[in-house]
Amino acid sequence: MATSKTTSLKRGVAALLFVIVLAFGWRYPYLAYCLFLNVLVGLIGALRHGGRHGCGNFCPRGAFYSFLPDTGRKLPAGLLARKMSIAVMALMVLGLALWLRPTTVRGWGMLFYIMIVVTTTVGLVGWLVFNRYFWCSVCPMGKIYKTIRPRRSGIRVADTCVKCGLCAKACPFGFFPPKAAQDGVFRDPDCMLCRRCIERCPKHALSMERSARMNQK
Ligand code: SF4
Ligand code: SF4
Repeated sequence: MATSKTTSLKRGVAALLFVIVLAFGWRYPYLAYCLFLNVLVGLIGALRHGGRHGCGNFCPRGAFYSFLPDTGRKLPAGLLARKMSIAVMALMVLGLALWLRPTTVRGWGMLFYIMIVVTTTVGLVGWLVFNRYFWCSVCPMGKIYKTIRPRRSGIRVADTCVKCGLCAKACPFGFFPPKAAQDGVFRDPDCMLCRRCIERCPKHALSMERSARMNQK
C-alpha cells in the first residue's frame, strides 16, 4: 500500500537522522540542533491535528526505537498518565546548563547532545526492561504536545471490524480503537496517529478521521 510505504520511508529517514546525530554529535555538536526541527514539526502537528501527531509521524527518536526488536513485554500501566517527565527534563536542562555553563552556540549544541545521549540511554534501558516504546510513553515533548491542543483527529472504526485485536497488538501503547471508540471514532490524547493500527487491520476497518470543525477550515 502506497501510504504504508511512505510512512515506512518517513520513519526510516527520521531514524537515520537520529543515528547520525547520536553517532557524530560529540564531534559536531551543531548536529543536535537538527532535532529542534523535529520539535518544530511536532508543535505544528499538535496545532493542526491536536495531541501527539508529531510523535507518531515525524519524531526521529520514536522512529529509531520502532526499529528495535520487539521484546514482547508490556509497558507498565500508568506511564502515559505521568506528568513528571516535563519537570525532570526541565531540571536536567537546568543542571546541565549550570554544570557546562555554555556561552556559545556550539556549547549549547553539546548540552543538547548530552541530553540526547542520556535520554536515549534511558529509552534503551526501558526497551530492555519493558518494550521499545518505553521512551514514547514518558517523553516530555509528547506530554507538551498533548497539552497544547486537545485531540482533534482520530481513528474511525468501520462496521467491517471483526474485533480480532490485531490493531491493539500493532499499537505502541496497546490501544484497542474498536473497543474505546465513541460514536465510531477513537480519540485518545496519547494516540500518536502513527497509523500502525490502520496498516495492520486485515479488514481495512480503520481510517484517519479529522474533526468536522477541522474539515470546515
Ligand atoms: S485489526 Fe481491524 S478487524 Fe481486527 S479488531 Fe482491529 S479494527 Fe477490528
Ligand atoms: S491507536 Fe493507532 S494511531 Fe493511535 S497510537 Fe495506537 S497504533 Fe498509533
